[in-house]
Amino acid sequence: TKTSVTVLGLGLMGGALAEALLRDGRTVTVWNRSRAKAEPLVAKGAVAAESAEAAVSASPLVIVCLSVYANAEEILGGAATGRTIVQLTNGTPRQARAMADRAAGLGARYVDGGIMAVPPMIGQPEALILYSGDQEAFEEHRETLAVLGRPQFLGADPGLAPLFDLALLDAMYGMFAGIQHAFALVRSEKVAATDFEPMATAWLTAMLGSLPEQAHAVEAGDFATTVSSVATSQMAFPGLIETSRDQGVDPGYLPAVQALLDRAVKEGHGEDGLARLITLLESP
Ligand code: NDP
Repeated sequence: TKTSVTVLGLGLMGGALAEALLRDGRTVTVWNRSRAKAEPLVAKGAVAAESAEAAVSASPLVIVCLSVYANAEEILGGAATGRTIVQLTNGTPRQARAMADRAAGLGARYVDGGIMAVPPMIGQPEALILYSGDQEAFEEHRETLAVLGRPQFLGADPGLAPLFDLALLDAMYGMFAGIQHAFALVRSEKVAATDFEPMATAWLTAMLGSLPEQAHAVEAGDFATTVSSVATSQMAFPGLIETSRDQGVDPGYLPAVQALLDRAVKEGHGEDGLARLITLLESP
């Protein structure tokens, strides 16, 4: 028989998680602070619990998906004893470790998670969900968690899933910061972003090809380059910032990168490849 599951928090994401479990034919107990959000799920076969405590008691596996960790702290009490808590609320490694300690104090097993997907992707293999924490509990519930998306277990430290989650968001926002600035730059000359986009997509796709090389360089501590040096970028950057200002566009993230490049050159790394910047970030 399939494991029955409780879902606490039926917002956009929690609602999608509960729906995927219902589609898989699970017994799903749901709870949400404002009751109305449980109704469409009850219509699809979910059981609405009277209280968060009753919801936690109802199933061996309890999935939590609230706005912030503080919400979960209010909710998880004595009923959690003997349960596996899977926390999919977005948070930090520190919060995850504190929550794991709290769960241990309640006699619950704890798995933290990071959802690398938006609600419409839930239930499909493209939805990557990162997990870390109690491996035995994860393995026991792997099949159920796989209903939500493709699970990837990262290790026993509960902080790992949020760390990877935040690192991926970090990479995404950095890329978006650049592309949003680039759109503003071409639009300052009445070029439509839609006309520029295919060129930008092709360029970024080609540049992504340097990721393995950068990863290998930093792990080997070998920053020699035959492609493009820190000094070359450092000399090109003032032109980028100046043009941004000339075009009436906020320079955005550019001065922060300029400062890092300046520091790299000042500290004698001008001949190195750009992967050298990783080690500068590591010693602020
Ligand atoms: P929503 O704003 O849609 O839902 C928030 C949920 O938290 C609601 O169920 C809300 O209850 C509940 N909540 C908020 N404050 C409290 C409180 N004090 N006590 C009890 N319950 C509370 O957010 P999402 O569902 O989109 O996101 C939930 C989590 O999932 C977040 O941590 C988010 O970062 C993460 N996530 C979301 C993604 C997305 O694309 N949506 C992608 C990846 C992760 P109520 O209905 O009563 O307000």
